[in-house]
Amino acid sequence: MENNTKDIVNKYGFKFTKSLGQNFLIDDSVLRDIVAGAEVANEDFVIEIGPGVGTLTKELLKKAKKVLAIELDSDLIPILQEELKEYDNFEIINKDVLKVDFEELLKDEDPVKLVANLPYYVTTPIIASLLKGKYKFKSLTIMIQKEVGERIAAEPNNKDYGSLSLLVQYYCDVRTIRKVSPSSFIPKPKVDSIVVRLDKLDKPRVEVKDEELFFKIIRASFNMRRKTLWNGLKSLGFDKNIIEKAFENSNIDNKRRGETLSIEEFGNLANSIKDLL
Ligand code: SAM
Repeated sequence: MENNTKDIVNKYGFKFTKSLGQNFLIDDSVLRDIVAGAEVANEDFVIEIGPGVGTLTKELLKKAKKVLAIELDSDLIPILQEELKEYDNFEIINKDVLKVDFEELLKDEDPVKLVANLPYYVTTPIIASLLKGKYKFKSLTIMIQKEVGERIAAEPNNKDYGSLSLLVQYYCDVRTIRKVSPSSFIPKPKVDSIVVRLDKLDKPRVEVKDEELFFKIIRASFNMRRKTLWNGLKSLGFDKNIIEKAFENSNIDNKRRGETLSIEEFGNLANSIKDLL
C-alpha cells in the first residue's frame, strides 16, 4: 500500500478549501491501520464520506464489494473519476453528506460499513444522525479529532464523559484503533486525530421506555455540569415530588452529579420518571 496523494494534488493543481475540513492523508501506516481496523470484506458495501482525491477509497475498493463515496466539493469529482476509473465497484455522489437520505440509499444493501477520514466540522451531527436513524450500518470506522474520540469513549467520572459518550455508547461498542499526528496529512491540521471504530449493537445497551426523555434527561444533567442532577431535572420542569420519588425508585442518591451516573443508572432514572408522569 503506497499512497500518491501529493502527486495527485499537484497533477490537477487542486486547491484546498479549509472550511471543508480538507486534510488529506499522506501516511501509509495510517491508511493500513484504518483499512485493517475496519475489517472490510468482499461482501461489504462501504460508504465513505469525503473521499478527497481517493487515497483511502482506492484501498477500500480493493477489499469491498462496492464503495459509495459522498463528496461535497465538485472540484474533486473529475479527479476521483479519472484516478479510480479502473474500479467498476465505485460510485460517487456529489452532495453534502448531511443532506443524504441514507434510508433510501441503503434500502437494498446489507451489511454496510462506514469508513471515513471525516471532515471534522460534521463529526457530531453525522454520528448522531447515523446512530439514531434506522439504517443498516454494522460499523463506523472513522478518523476524528482526538478530543472528540476521547469524549466518545469516556466512562463515568472522567472529565470527558458527557452526552456524546452516552449517545454513542447507547448504540455501539467503542474501540480506539490508533492516534494520528498532524504530520500524517496535507495540509497539517491544528489538532491531533484518532481513529475509532464503533460497532453497532443488535439492540441499545439499556432498555429505555422513552428514548426522547432518556436523552433529554442526559442533556439536562450535563448542561448543569457544576450542579447536581436534581437541578438538571428541575430545569426540565418536573414536579419536585416526581423527582424525589424517581430518585428513590431508581436507587440513586439525589445529591449525585450527572457525570457520576452510568448509562444503566440514567436508563433507570428515565424509566422511573416515565412511570411517574
Ligand atoms: N478521504 C480523504 C483522505 O483521507 O485523504 C479526504 C479526507 S478530508 C479530512 C475530508 C473530505 O470531506 C474532503 O474531501 C472534503 O471535501 C469532504 N467534505 C467536507 N464536507 C463535506 C460534506 N458536508 N459532505 C461530504 N463531503 C464533505
